[in-house]
Amino acid sequence: MTEKMLKFVDVPQHMPDKRDAALRNKDWGEIYEEFQTERAAEQSARCSQCGIPFCQIHCPVHNNIPDWLKLTAEGRLEEAYEVSQATNNFPEICGRICPQDRLCEGNCVIEKGFESVTIGSVEKYITDTAWEQGWVKPVQPRIERPQSVGIIGGGPGGLAAAEELRRVGHQVSVYDRYDRMGGLMIYGIPNFKLEKEVVERRTKLLADAKVDYHLNFEVGKDASLADLREKHDAVLIATGVYKARDITAPGVGLENVFQAMDYLTASNRKGLGDSVPLFEDGTLNADGKHVVVVGGGDTAMDCVRTAVRQGAKSVKCLYRRDRANMPGSMREVHHAEEEGVEFVWLSSPKAFLGDDVVDGVRAHRMRLGAPDATGRQTPRPVDGSDYTMPADLVIKALGFDPEDLPTLFDEPALEVSRWGTVKIDFKSMMTNLDGVFAAGDIVRGASLVVWAIRDGRDAAAAIGKYLEAQSEQDQTLAIAS
Ligand code: FAD
Ligand code: SF4
Ligand code: SF4
Repeated sequence: MTEKMLKFVDVPQHMPDKRDAALRNKDWGEIYEEFQTERAAEQSARCSQCGIPFCQIHCPVHNNIPDWLKLTAEGRLEEAYEVSQATNNFPEICGRICPQDRLCEGNCVIEKGFESVTIGSVEKYITDTAWEQGWVKPVQPRIERPQSVGIIGGGPGGLAAAEELRRVGHQVSVYDRYDRMGGLMIYGIPNFKLEKEVVERRTKLLADAKVDYHLNFEVGKDASLADLREKHDAVLIATGVYKARDITAPGVGLENVFQAMDYLTASNRKGLGDSVPLFEDGTLNADGKHVVVVGGGDTAMDCVRTAVRQGAKSVKCLYRRDRANMPGSMREVHHAEEEGVEFVWLSSPKAFLGDDVVDGVRAHRMRLGAPDATGRQTPRPVDGSDYTMPADLVIKALGFDPEDLPTLFDEPALEVSRWGTVKIDFKSMMTNLDGVFAAGDIVRGASLVVWAIRDGRDAAAAIGKYLEAQSEQDQTLAIAS
């Protein structure tokens, strides 16, 4: 083993080549090139094959990282793919968009002094190769089971659960209010992070595995939760969180002040070839405009980088804390800076200026005060620090809360937390309603794709157990009667 592996002392870390910022900020392609085979093997061989692999412990799906790195170093890619897909339904997606600096790579023990193994890029390389070679196949259950599961929401949580339930032969229907499956992977996350073909080939694979899709189907409008419970033996709620948080400041209702999801969805739809009147008439298009994005998370990063690519005259990101306290991934901040985004740290909007249409933002400087209950320092405005910047388009990216599901689903008995997230028993993944389970952002609050996958897999296992218990109970009753 040592002959092939443990090369981190001699071989430096090499990420796949990143396309030049001056070129990539004019197109929508992903920013990293694919690894060459030799480079993937060389980088995998840097792994020291830890007895207690902290990378794996800190990966939400507990990928067997040391094993697939070793197989890649040895050129055994098909086996590497088998190991990698055993714990993750969408490895090539996680390889592209997980914040690895906070998860697997950030916990790689060789990081100090030698820089981590490039785990995410190798994971992407393995699965992209598997697609090219035709190794990725729809799941084929050994037996078909009669019980059916209705899944509300076709994001990563719902789709991971759908694949796992089909694997063991359950009949699966996924209901989504959008016209495409994929959730935020299709309409939220931009192409330069995750090309849409990568998502679409996955959703097609599930359709080939006989997952039954119901598009443009909104639960709460086209059916109630009770209707779905009637129709299916179990129901999974995986609806994500979409209620945008807002700012209370004078002028927030002016024209051309938008929520991030309106802006990103228009851009993603355009990229998918849809007709988007509000983009085509210039309203949701940053071309030639001074753009100000308010917020410091990953959504804000996606907005600023989208605006750059649309040809904005200037792009500023206003964030009320400093760089060290940003919730977004540092890698993303770095990419944005390279692409020409200006970060205005310790700044917050005080008013949006203009008659009918916004033409400026008045901001004030902030300072970080005493830590709050969570330990984070609270930003406080600095008196007399107001200043104004031009803005033709303002995008609010302040995070998301859950919609009021008990009302929307016409099911007042469904228990939710004080934040509106659906309450589950974390062992059974079941809500307080018998046979109704929940997974992903609607349980955790806004989180990550990889956590939604993990939850979807756990929910599928829990639903499987529930259905088995139900059929045993039915058999007992049949014998008794
Ligand atoms: P979602 O992906 O939100 O899917 C929920 C689905 O449910 C949607 O398709 C929706 O249409 C459907 N739905 C909702 N209500 C109903 C209803 N009543 N009836 C029928 N269907 C319904 N995570 C990362 O890991 N890396 C990133 O780089 C990253 N970037 C992001 C960028 C943006 C702009 C945003 C907003 C999020 C980002 N995330 C990222 C977070 C990640 O996308 C989410 O955590 C993840 O998609 C949650 O998955 P989910 O399945 O719970 O919900
Ligand atoms: Fe790292 Fe995400 Fe892959 Fe896990 S799924 S190994 S956290 S990139
Ligand atoms: Fe390899 Fe780093 Fe994981 Fe250790 S922590 S097994 S060196 S990738």
